[in-house]
Amino acid sequence: MSNRKILVIYTGGTIGMMVDPDSKALKPFEFKNIHQQLPMLHLIEADITFQDMLPLIDSSDTNPDFWVRLAKMVGENYDKYDGFVILHGTDTMAYTASALSFLLDNLSKPVILTGAQLPLGVIRTDGRRNILNAIAIAAEYVDDKPVIQEVCIYFQNNLYRGNRTYKDNASRFNAFYSPNYPIIAEVNTTAEFHTNLLHYEAPGAPFRYYTRMDSHVALIKIYPGISVEFMRNVFNTPGLRAVVMETFGVGNAPTSPEFTQILHDAVSRGIVIVNVTQCKGGGGVEMDRYETGKNLADIGITSGRDMTTEAAVTKLMFLLGQYDNPDDVRREVAVSMRGEMTME
Ligand code: ASP
Repeated sequence: MSNRKILVIYTGGTIGMMVDPDSKALKPFEFKNIHQQLPMLHLIEADITFQDMLPLIDSSDTNPDFWVRLAKMVGENYDKYDGFVILHGTDTMAYTASALSFLLDNLSKPVILTGAQLPLGVIRTDGRRNILNAIAIAAEYVDDKPVIQEVCIYFQNNLYRGNRTYKDNASRFNAFYSPNYPIIAEVNTTAEFHTNLLHYEAPGAPFRYYTRMDSHVALIKIYPGISVEFMRNVFNTPGLRAVVMETFGVGNAPTSPEFTQILHDAVSRGIVIVNVTQCKGGGGVEMDRYETGKNLADIGITSGRDMTTEAAVTKLMFLLGQYDNPDDVRREVAVSMRGEMTME
């Protein structure tokens, strides 16, 4: 059996940096010289092609146009490669992984994002292990089928479903967390795939990629004392089509008549509101548990269940790109499209 062909797309971020010998400052290095940084790349049994996605960015500059370009790059190369690795800054990697999971439909090949807390060109880098393991996982086939057929993040020994994660640590190597879905593979002395946790699309369903997103989405974190004026201004933003509302606990929010009225008016004007919890450690929205949550459900606010904020924001941007009618968006956002939400 010939080697698997893996396309590694470098988008920017800390991973691709090295210390400039003259200035001693960090600067991006040219990926065509990657073998100098990673001589053991040749140990992986795969034909690896590196491609830059220019301009290289700090991932703080990620946006829906960038996600669509990335989806296109994967889509246009889909038949030529057996797996994809995307090197990306960690800051917004969970947003990109979530967005790609929606833009790439009926995936039957691995798309693994990884990056690093420290640049490849420094001694203590975590980038070396992340990149080598991500490529090895992308090349993992059993019975001529890829083991991973979804968009994942590989970081510090763990493989996560990408649309279940968020970045939860700015300094530890273990930078990502998946509050409501277990780690799907672990790399220690051996790589262990938890096959019962992997996401597979219907066999034979044709792959396609989407090229439209709409960023008229706002994110509001509710806090005690949030001003009615602030809420009113956000909901009156010209062009606004959807709001992700991060609420308390299992989906509770203030119940004052003014607050309720603003939400009610917004829903009647066709703005889609999705309720997610601001609890970061796990659990989700259950709007029938408390009177305050029930109030939101009665207004017509949609439960985001246990979706991360990252998944909810990008799912709405994706759905708004496909549908004009808010009822279609409300219907689709309420179901799990790519394993981003627990339904039972
Ligand atoms: N600011 C960088 C980025 O997200 C940090 C990193 O690469 O981890 O692009």
